[in-house]
Amino acid sequence: MDTTFSSEDLKFQKEVREFIQNNYPQTLRDSISAKRKNGEDLSREDMTTWHKILGKHNGWSAPSWPKKFGGAEFTPTQKYNFEQECAKAECMYIVPFGVNMVGPVIYTFGNDEQKDKHLPGILSGETFWCQGYSEPGSGSDLASLKTTAVKEGDHYIVNGQKTWTTSANHADWIFCLVRTDPNAPKPQQGISFFLIDMKTPGITVRPIYLMDGSNEVNETWLDNVKVPVENLIGQENMGWTYAKFLLAHERFGIAVVGAEIRQLNKLKQIVSELDNPDLSRKIKELEIDLSALEILGLRMLSDIETKGHPGPESSILKIRGTEIQQRLTELFVEASGEYALIYPGPHGHLGNTKPSGPDHAAKSLSKYLNYRKASIYGGSNEIQKNIISKMILGL
Ligand SMILES: Cc1cc2nc3c(=O)[nH]c(=O)nc-3n(C[C@H](O)[C@H](O)[C@H](O)COP(=O)(O)OP(=O)(O)OC[C@H]3O[C@@H](n4cnc5c(N)ncnc54)[C@H](O)[C@@H]3O)c2cc1C
Repeated sequence: MDTTFSSEDLKFQKEVREFIQNNYPQTLRDSISAKRKNGEDLSREDMTTWHKILGKHNGWSAPSWPKKFGGAEFTPTQKYNFEQECAKAECMYIVPFGVNMVGPVIYTFGNDEQKDKHLPGILSGETFWCQGYSEPGSGSDLASLKTTAVKEGDHYIVNGQKTWTTSANHADWIFCLVRTDPNAPKPQQGISFFLIDMKTPGITVRPIYLMDGSNEVNETWLDNVKVPVENLIGQENMGWTYAKFLLAHERFGIAVVGAEIRQLNKLKQIVSELDNPDLSRKIKELEIDLSALEILGLRMLSDIETKGHPGPESSILKIRGTEIQQRLTELFVEASGEYALIYPGPHGHLGNTKPSGPDHAAKSLSKYLNYRKASIYGGSNEIQKNIISKMILGL
């Protein structure tokens, strides 16, 4: 295993750092920081401005995409360094549903018309996507999903309910897993993958408020929605294959070590002004865990460079990455002391007063509550442990 960066990689790292310094808008930084402090939801503009800037720069909005589809085609090491630099500089993340999820499905399994129609908008950040996989009762056991599509001439008629659809309230399009053959011998064999325009009559989006009062996720209802046959990806009843391909992309992107290092450094600075040896010890322990996670990430990177794929070890990265994320939010609450009890909560939910005390304190409890999600989405940590026991330990 070689985890040292080559001189070209270090040069690239510097290029990314300089690009961010020269191009990341201060207005965007200010807008996001104010909203996070006041507990307000981010707007579509907040979420897409940086994406649009990267989209105009050699396909940097799509680091892994092949150049022939307009992406940057970074090597795995370049991609890692790019993501770490963006995270360390506190850049807005790129909403993953288009670039990291449906984009690779479209260019791998879609036809030429689908590629021409959808890839440019995903790259540029003009088209906003959301993911319609989960349903009430079908999360970990996704293959049990009940939303149906029945073919009628040149359309499918889709009926059902998706849930936890992140950013459906902003989205132009949704990619959905839908049952097209209820009589298939195995539930996985009767599922198809559709692209659905969110403006189609019959689609209703209702907010779900998370524990911190934010509206990131939604219920999405589909009531006799007419979907043209040309919106089917690949072959009918082969959707499970495309869905699994997409989930592998989703998981590898979840633990972003750079953002955690930045958070830890902030926390160390806050705690250096407090006389709290117990908290300082907890932070040192977390720092050791984070260093181990960073080395694990680099080891996996080395595997991708040599073997071409991360393997089931990406489940370890997901578990440890999200545990550390959650631990960080706990320590921020501890460092904020009684100020953590005062927090603004959006939409009139949960908030008890205007923020007061230091800036970090205003955000600490809402972030703590919000990040309980990290061990659930992208396949819950318990499910990842099942994968580890089966694929790595052979149990
Ligand atoms: C903030 C947030 C955003 C999300 N965004 C999206 C989105 O945009 N699109 C989308 O489609 N979905 C989204 N999801 C849904 C997410 O993928 C599911 O919540 C997740 O897969 C878990 O499914 P579930 O909620 O139905 O829980 P369940 O599957 O009912 O699980 C409940 C509990 O049981 C445990 N469990 C279940 N089965 C097993 C097992 N076999 N072994 C051990 N333990 C088990 C789970 O780990 C969990 O702790 C989001 C979820 C959250 C919280």
